[in-house]
Amino acid sequence: MSLMKKRVKIGFVTAITLVVLIYFYKTVISFNSNSSPLANVLVEEQRQWPPTEDAVQRNLQIAYEAQNALLHQQRQELMHTKEQLAQLEEKVRSLQASTPRKYPKVKYLNYKNRKRILITGGAGFVGSHLVDDLMIQGHEIIVVDNFFTGRKRNVEHWLGHANFELIHHDIVNPLFIEIDEIYHLASPASPPHYMYNPVKTIKTNTMGTINMLGLAKRVMAKVLIASTSEVYGDPTVHPQPETYWGHVNPIGPRACYDEGKRVSETLSYAYAKQEKVQVRVARIFNTYGPRMHMNDGRVVSNFILQALRNETITVYGNGKQTRSFQYVSDLVDGMIALMASNYTQPVNLGNPVEQTIEEFAKIIRLLVGGTSEIKQISAMEDDPQRRKPDITRAKKRLNWEPKVPLEAGLRQTISYFRNELARSDRFQESSRKYFESPDLQRSRP
Ligand code: NAD
Ligand code: UDP
Ligand code: UDP
Repeated sequence: MSLMKKRVKIGFVTAITLVVLIYFYKTVISFNSNSSPLANVLVEEQRQWPPTEDAVQRNLQIAYEAQNALLHQQRQELMHTKEQLAQLEEKVRSLQASTPRKYPKVKYLNYKNRKRILITGGAGFVGSHLVDDLMIQGHEIIVVDNFFTGRKRNVEHWLGHANFELIHHDIVNPLFIEIDEIYHLASPASPPHYMYNPVKTIKTNTMGTINMLGLAKRVMAKVLIASTSEVYGDPTVHPQPETYWGHVNPIGPRACYDEGKRVSETLSYAYAKQEKVQVRVARIFNTYGPRMHMNDGRVVSNFILQALRNETITVYGNGKQTRSFQYVSDLVDGMIALMASNYTQPVNLGNPVEQTIEEFAKIIRLLVGGTSEIKQISAMEDDPQRRKPDITRAKKRLNWEPKVPLEAGLRQTISYFRNELARSDRFQESSRKYFESPDLQRSRP
């Protein structure tokens, strides 16, 4: 046989062999391998057409089992991923714990100048700003708070700092610690909050203040009491100097707070006289700024939130009542100056720029932008009609007066509330997604 013929023959035989092999693989090996349960469905389908009832049932059963197997496999993978994620999170946590946290820069004070300062209500709106300033000055700060209206979030940037301590405690109960100064701010401050539990408001301002004065007496600490313009009640003198005795309804809805604070002042001067405790009394007028609670219920947060949500701005009564608003940083400066001074009589801390509430609503709407309607609704009982501090004493004795203009302070506060709203929307959305996720639904019993 010639070489050419030999090659053709070999090629022919090879081709035949290949065809046979492919056929063998398709018909025998792949059908028998059964690697995927779905293959069984095909087997059943190809056996007979149209398939019998039995075959249909079997096919359904096979498909169902295949689906289940797939689901099982996916769940396993999900669980595995979750385990990996948990391990990673654990690693991140331990890394975070071993890496020193970044804190705002604090000054170094030597032991002679460094004070141990207790701030009651330090997790609240004003208290947390006071914490920031005193921490930055280099002092050791102890915050005592029962978190009734305060939040850990207000002071979380100091948690873990060597100069900072947060104690969850209700000041109605005694407290034994060693300190040099006390800023006593613990008390609900907004009308809805202090009216929510009037008895507790009275206890906090009387028993709580006795405890703080008793503590000051024992350790010979200086104590500053956060009193309020509410001690003037619905004033008959305008503007209000510290010498004015006030006009308070002792049994009205505001009495728990107004009379509580008046007793707080009385106690301070009784301890000063009888026990030689060094007291400072700040009569604080309406204050606003970042970290006010979203549900605070006071006029600044209410109006800003209503304007940001484009809701109706609700003015209680005819809106002709007046208030004077000071920005929180001005108040904090005033409190620190008062504590440092030798002046022991009460001092008004407030901004004498006065507005009607109706004007205030318009200012907020203008600064926020938007088209909120301004609507008068029923008046609050015993709502003080005029309020404006006479700050001659603070100017003279503390060399203090407010610096932040209303518009600048309001812009800061509006921006804070805008962020808070966005934050709460984000949390709501991610929480909704989580609780509605099919995975969570399946894992429920
Ligand atoms: P806030 O409600 O934000 O802060 C008060 C803090 O005291 C909160 O952290 C709260 O949890 C805490 N607290 C309440 N009862 C307590 C208790 N029994 N034990 C421990 N902690 C308790 O109010 P704020 O606006 O920061 O006011 C602070 C102080 O200033 C208050 O004493 C208030 O009367 C006074 N003040 C404030 C204003 C103002 O416009 N913000 C005006 C006048 C007086
Ligand atoms: N008190 C406190 N911490 C102290 C000291 C006193 O909480 O370090 C409380 C004490 O429990 C008391 C209150 O302050 O109820 C008033 O103290 P004070 O010494 O004036 O009164 P007394 O103990 O004599 O009744
Ligand atoms: N106010 C209002 N709408 C509100 C909240 C408050 O018109 O949504 C009025 C309230 O009646 C009062 C003033 O604003 O005349 C200040 O009230 P806020 O509760 O802030 O503090 P107050 O000075 O009364 O303690």
